[in-house]
Parts: sequence; structure tokens; C-alpha cells
Amino acid sequence: MGYVFAYPIFFRYFCTDNPIRNRITQNMYSERDSQSPIQRRGTIEVVCGSMFSGKTEELIRRMKRAQFAKQKVEIFKPAIDVRYSELEVVSHNHNSIISTPVDSAASILLLAEDVEVVGIDEAQFFDMAIIDVCRKLASRGIRVIVAGLDMDYKGVPFGPMPALMAIADDVFKAHAICVRCGNLANFSHRTVESTRQVLLGETEKYEPLCRHCFEEAAKELIYQVEENIFKEEE
Ligand SMILES: [Zn+2]
Repeated sequence: MGYVFAYPIFFRYFCTDNPIRNRITQNMYSERDSQSPIQRRGTIEVVCGSMFSGKTEELIRRMKRAQFAKQKVEIFKPAIDVRYSELEVVSHNHNSIISTPVDSAASILLLAEDVEVVGIDEAQFFDMAIIDVCRKLASRGIRVIVAGLDMDYKGVPFGPMPALMAIADDVFKAHAICVRCGNLANFSHRTVESTRQVLLGETEKYEPLCRHCFEEAAKELIYQVEENIFKEEE
């Protein structure tokens, strides 16, 4: 009996021009619909976090989804980041996507002609001009996805990242796992002595830590420095 009654509803839902079905279908394909030529509008998304938090994986995931939606995508990264490969954005798990190394933020504006989605990796290494570049790209109707370290090894906001987070439409903070206690980590602790803000290509010299363990590690470092000074004085 139920089947007999259900059949006309089934027929009406799937085989006629049903406004409810149309709405559901639109939501299911929101990736494409929101970027269709008529509705396309520029946005800025920031994906940030500590080292080993998976922020580059998240950038690659979003770029690949855009590629599946047949959108024209382009990824840029600072030319100084030559960790593994000149041409590819490579994350720690080797899930990679082709990218263009650029010397300055301004070059992105020139190279991003006729692109629907622009990805920017390691944005913390760019100069402050990157903020205006992202704003201009979004004004052109481009979806801009920016990934980068939110803090340096001292826990200080890194380069243009805080300003990019402020002007973004959406901010996603990725977390690593604290190697000392297993809690969520948002600090990149440097395990070797150096006061340079950037130690490129030396990821093994960092460990992700939570706030508590990061503060403890900072205290250990102060003790070590005091001990060294004490030894030198002896
Ligand atoms: Zn911890």
C-alpha cells in the first residue's frame, strides 16, 4: 500500500521541475554555483597554523576541489622556499601540486591573469605588499586562498599573516599535535640555537608544542643560557 502512495511523490520529486529539488541540487553543487560567471565574487581565505599542522595539505585540498569544478587555478609561493622542489608546492606528506615561485608579492598580480582561484603558500615569507595584492585579486572576482605560519619560532605573529587574517572573509587555524603531551599544538618550537627568524629547509629543527609545553621549553632555554654564561664566567 505504502509503495502505491509513495510512487506519485517519488515521480513528482525526481521527474518534474520541483522547486525543493532545485534548491537541494544547488546546495549540493555550491562549489561550482558560487563561482559561476554571474554570481562569482572574490573572497580571501586564510589557512594558518604552526609547522606540521597540515595547512599546506588543506591548501592543496581546496585547490584540487576547485580543479575538479573545472576552475582555472594557479598556486604561487615565495622563491626563497625551495625546500623540496622548485616548481611544486609540496606538503610534508608529499601530496603536491604544481606552483610558480615568485620573487615578490607584486609579481602575483601580473601572473594571475585569467585565473579563478589563486593559492598562495608560505605567505609569511612575502613582504607586506601581499596584503594589497590579495585585496586587489579579490576585487577582480578571484577566490584567494592563502596558507602560512601564523607565528614564528618565538610565538610572535609572522610578517603579513596577522593583517591577512584580519582582512580575510574566512580564517581556518590548523593544529598540529604537541610532541610532548599530545594536546593540540599551535607553536613551532625551534630545537636548535639560532636567532634568525627563518631557518629554511630545516624542518627537522622544529617541533610542534602546545602553549603550556612551549612556555616550559622557553624556561628551559633561559636556564641553559644562564648555565652557559655561568660556565663562561668560571
Ligand atoms: Zn604540550
